[in-house]
Amino acid sequence: MFAFQKWSSLAEMRRYMKRFIHLVDGLYKLGGVMRTKYNQYHSVIVPIQRYLEERGVKFDFGCEVVDIDFSFSSDVKTATVLHLKDKNEIVLGENDYVFITNGSITESSDNGTWDKAPKLKGISDSGSWKLWKKLAEKDPSFGNPSPFCDHIDLQKWYSFTATFKDSTFHDYIENFSGNVDGTGGLITMTDSNWFMSIVIARQPHFPNQPKDVKILWGYGLYPDRKGNFVNKTMAECSGAEILQELFFHLKVQELMKPVLDAGKLNCIPVAMPFIDSLFMPRELGDRPDVVVKGASNFAFLGQFAEAPKDCVFTVEYSVRTAQMAVYGLFDTGKEVHPMYDSAHNPKYLLAALKAISR
Ligand SMILES: Cc1cc2nc3c(=O)[nH]c(=O)nc-3n(C[C@H](O)[C@H](O)[C@H](O)COP(=O)(O)OP(=O)(O)OC[C@H]3O[C@@H](n4cnc5c(N)ncnc54)[C@H](O)[C@@H]3O)c2cc1C
Repeated sequence: MFAFQKWSSLAEMRRYMKRFIHLVDGLYKLGGVMRTKYNQYHSVIVPIQRYLEERGVKFDFGCEVVDIDFSFSSDVKTATVLHLKDKNEIVLGENDYVFITNGSITESSDNGTWDKAPKLKGISDSGSWKLWKKLAEKDPSFGNPSPFCDHIDLQKWYSFTATFKDSTFHDYIENFSGNVDGTGGLITMTDSNWFMSIVIARQPHFPNQPKDVKILWGYGLYPDRKGNFVNKTMAECSGAEILQELFFHLKVQELMKPVLDAGKLNCIPVAMPFIDSLFMPRELGDRPDVVVKGASNFAFLGQFAEAPKDCVFTVEYSVRTAQMAVYGLFDTGKEVHPMYDSAHNPKYLLAALKAISR
């Protein structure tokens, strides 16, 4: 289940077990997981962006930072200049602060189509990995991106989004799983060579999604293996071929034939070269501290900055690093939200023990 690979970081797995031990009892049905009404972009990002814009925050999209200059004294590190691609540099003033998302799991993703497989891109197409590599050369406290971005074959997997102008598939899954859309967990096809999973979110998943349109998201952890039905690796497959493989595993090929013949579905495959980067084995110091020692006006944010004890592949982790950054650099009098400590609660330990011996 989920995106851990057999070669993923044991330290991260340990963190997951400790952090979420209270959820182990309900894990088989993903009980305790909080879900947003729509997809996370529309439910989380858009409202926050609107809130901030109303308060005068200016967003400058399409703007790539290619390098950052720093001045280093014996005990103070200060960011001084942002270098932008195809734009003028920004010289930082006394009251300017820089928050750097070093590394991102969606970098260099590529979309295929119904009849075309996506391309596997690399670091040269990414913004954040190239930037972090440059920064890491400037000071050892800025971490080491290499374990997270230099092994694409271990870090990649492929995902897909299917759109149906028809409810046959979703009705079938609801009946079969007993879960109304948006209430179930991942459905993992454990016999699948690609190790495929699908997730049926609450419908509509997008605020403007028409009533008769249903969508699902899925992925395969082993994209270099040939399918059980389609004689191609997942990486070589178009959207149509990925759905053929999915329908084969769920034994719904006959059921879905009329929908397919009527052209009432689409599937977009996506190559994600860095998606599992955050689970790669790492050493202490590979992830920089959020506010490194001596930093006067900058901090690192996101999945590749160190938030002790918290677990990556979550929105919460990135939010926590942002809290650590702001509360660490400014005198707000506020405390970073503590993490729920269930690992020392006998009630949860007992429930978890029972659950794993079921
Ligand atoms: C398929 C998928 C499913 C997920 N499911 C869940 C889930 O169910 N629950 C959960 O909690 N989390 C989930 N996550 C994880 C969560 O979405 C991420 O951890 C979170 O969005 C990371 O946020 P971030 O702001 O740190 O980084 P990002 O969202 O990666 O943002 C980094 C930003 O920096 C920009 N950028 C990069 N380089 C540069 C540069 N040089 N100059 C300027 N801008 C740059 C990028 O364009 C991007 O906008 C999922 C992630 C994925 C991909």
